[in-house]
Amino acid sequence: MGKGSRLSQGRSYLAIPGPSVMPDAVLSAMHRAAPNIYAGELPDMMPRLMDDLRAVARTQHNAAIYIANGHGAWEAALANVIAPGDRVLLPATGRFGFGWGDMATGLGAQIDLIDFGKRAPIDVAQVSEALLADKSHEIKAVLAVHVDTSTSVRNDIAGLRAALDDAGHPALLMVDCIASLACDVFEMDAWGVDVMVTASQKGLMVPPGLGFVFFSERAQAARSRMTRVSRYWDWGPRADPQIFAQHFGGTAPTHHLYGLRASLDMIHAEGIENVWHRHGVLARAIWAACDVWGQGGPLEMNVADPSHRSHAVTALRLGAPHATRLRDWVEQNLGLTLGIGLGMAEPGDDAWHGFFRLGHMGHVNGHMIMGLLGGIEAGMRALDIPRGTGALEAAAAVISG
Ligand SMILES: *Cc1c(COP(=O)(O)O)cnc(C)c1O
Repeated sequence: MGKGSRLSQGRSYLAIPGPSVMPDAVLSAMHRAAPNIYAGELPDMMPRLMDDLRAVARTQHNAAIYIANGHGAWEAALANVIAPGDRVLLPATGRFGFGWGDMATGLGAQIDLIDFGKRAPIDVAQVSEALLADKSHEIKAVLAVHVDTSTSVRNDIAGLRAALDDAGHPALLMVDCIASLACDVFEMDAWGVDVMVTASQKGLMVPPGLGFVFFSERAQAARSRMTRVSRYWDWGPRADPQIFAQHFGGTAPTHHLYGLRASLDMIHAEGIENVWHRHGVLARAIWAACDVWGQGGPLEMNVADPSHRSHAVTALRLGAPHATRLRDWVEQNLGLTLGIGLGMAEPGDDAWHGFFRLGHMGHVNGHMIMGLLGGIEAGMRALDIPRGTGALEAAAAVISG
């Protein structure tokens, strides 16, 4: 396709694993004059906003908001329960596990790492062994990532709770749901999660800038035992504010809150179970297409077992330099942006150009996913990348049910 025939005009489509596509309802809710932050609509909307956030997290317990990205939510959560010198167990399944561990290291924690590599989920039996070996209960927390966005591995969080309970180990179960919340099934209370962190720009469909920490009464008890927690990260006033400004440790993220209100309205109108179901069907359509492509060429899903794959993001292997060429082609010619590979190879290494990811989190529906897959088909065809035929048929068969 020559330059003159580029087909990228029209609405662009950002199919990366966050930030995700923003609904028009979220954008228009934010397009407004600056609100009064002392009284009226904005402060008045907080109680229901917090309740609706808890409903998405499936918890009856506490919620705190930070003006921060996911990294800020990590630090916020850790700063409330981890003191310098504390040990934390880190079962890692990709780049984001290491990132969370690194944040804990920065706060002075000692990390017990169990590295499950880049393609496999947490093996709960190995976590059990580590917990049983810690007879004096020095490990203060298990840091897990529900969906590691770099590998698209989804981990068994209820299994980790069972491992802690079976070992009679009091460590907190802390879970990063930044990629997975409102995409993959997650049950904070039913699964016995003590601390959950998430952020606004993925399944919640709001621009980056809000971090959320949800915490149980057990986590609050651990917080109470801390000698010192930085004022700004302290979740106490944020979760139980006496005045509106305490929700945010200062000025409210005014427009993000309107965007979040609109997003929660959409999620609750659809119903969280239906949101999960939609993500499940759309993910299976993507996998069906990838299976077919892979039968006649180099494309391969990073996670072999579908039961360990996320419904929010799919990490793919295409071999260098195909992945980078494909991403460039669909962006330039179709207005479709795919995610780079993350944590699979070093950016300076040629192999880096062999990996890419699809984000399918939040505001995505059947025609978008068919468009995403059709765009990839067109790109592989334009670039002569070998592939099996019938991928779109296979995806259509999943979507048509
Ligand atoms: C996106 C993401 C993060 C980091 O979030 P930032 O907003 O980029 O700081 C952390 N963990 C997971 C699982 C993520 O998907």
